[in-house]
Amino acid sequence: MAHIVFEQVTKQYDNGFVAVKDLNLDIGEDEFLVLVGPSGCGKTTSLRMLAGLEDSSSGHIYIDGQRVNEKSPRDRDIAMVFQSYALYPHMSVFENMAFSLQLQGTAKDEIHQRVQAAATQLGIEQLLDRKPKQLSGGQRQRVAVGRAIVRDPAAFLMDEPLSNLDAKLRVQARAELSKLHKKLGTTFIYVTHDQVEAMTMGSRIAVMNQGILQQVDTPQNLYDQPNNVFVAGFMGSPAMNFFDAVLKPDDNDLWIDAGALRLPVPETLRSRYQPHIGTPLILGIRPENIYNPKFAPPGVNPLAVEATVSVVEMMGHEEIVYLTLPDGSEFLARIDPRSRFTAGASIQVLFDMNRFHLFDKASEHVLA
Ligand code: ATP
Repeated sequence: MAHIVFEQVTKQYDNGFVAVKDLNLDIGEDEFLVLVGPSGCGKTTSLRMLAGLEDSSSGHIYIDGQRVNEKSPRDRDIAMVFQSYALYPHMSVFENMAFSLQLQGTAKDEIHQRVQAAATQLGIEQLLDRKPKQLSGGQRQRVAVGRAIVRDPAAFLMDEPLSNLDAKLRVQARAELSKLHKKLGTTFIYVTHDQVEAMTMGSRIAVMNQGILQQVDTPQNLYDQPNNVFVAGFMGSPAMNFFDAVLKPDDNDLWIDAGALRLPVPETLRSRYQPHIGTPLILGIRPENIYNPKFAPPGVNPLAVEATVSVVEMMGHEEIVYLTLPDGSEFLARIDPRSRFTAGASIQVLFDMNRFHLFDKASEHVLA
């Protein structure tokens, strides 16, 4: 178990490109922290700096209170699982898993016992004599994890370890890694660009964009209370709908005016939004917070909106409906599959007014 801290860590590559800027992140012992963000946002660079495979340009990295910036990778007591798995093709599974222990000079009996224990834990004990090329993708992935487990590290760093698996296997491997984390009780830091992996596995998620940490929180809090437009749009699929909007007073009420959408601000939020009257804003509503009136669940604070259906994607358990407002703006709704909407139909949907988000258009931050 390791307590890991990034303090003002920046990485500027030799060509001047800043891949990670002022990263501050405190990762608790035995936490499963997922670093998520689009391709090129600096996730791998952050992980490699922690592993010691990349120097940081400034800032401090601490493992269990000790600054490790100058420590070599082997002295950091962490194991990394790569996207490519990086198994040695000429070695058997056993030899691949035993290799790091042999380098450390561990006694033969202990190596045997540790490899066997890790293999049993991962259900690959029958594969120990095989070469990597004789394994399926899922089995290779387990060997890569097994190779990390035998070292009994204080933390596991994983860089997109499931991206080579097919969709079904990925779901299974996700659950296996979560179970493994609980069993080992060790710190996991896991890099992915897949927000579903992040939501399903992370005890906390750190969202990055363009080298900058955007928000760190539990999956539910990130989803419910995104700090900014980027996090709101990145977490959740299909993505949150956004509309240009402005707050307008009317008699004693406050309204969100978003073109063809006109929404009253619930009374509890009025004093919070009052100072932003007239400022350009962005209104966000998730597709799952829009309902067919026939199937709206209890507890929804409904606002009826007229729209035209342009496309319907039937998913079996839901319909993804592409809708157009009279002013031409488009949005998506995840609707009850019994709706059977058809393209071209004029329909009414309900927006749940308990579940909208308002952001400042200039800063893209959520309204304070
Ligand atoms: P991906 O999901 O595609 O792996 P990532 O978030 O892990 O992306 P990084 O690999 O950390 O991204 O790269 C961050 C940025 O730094 C990218 O724009 C990349 O092109 C750049 N970068 C990476 N390595 C170098 C290097 N050696 N020199 C210059 N720029 C680099």
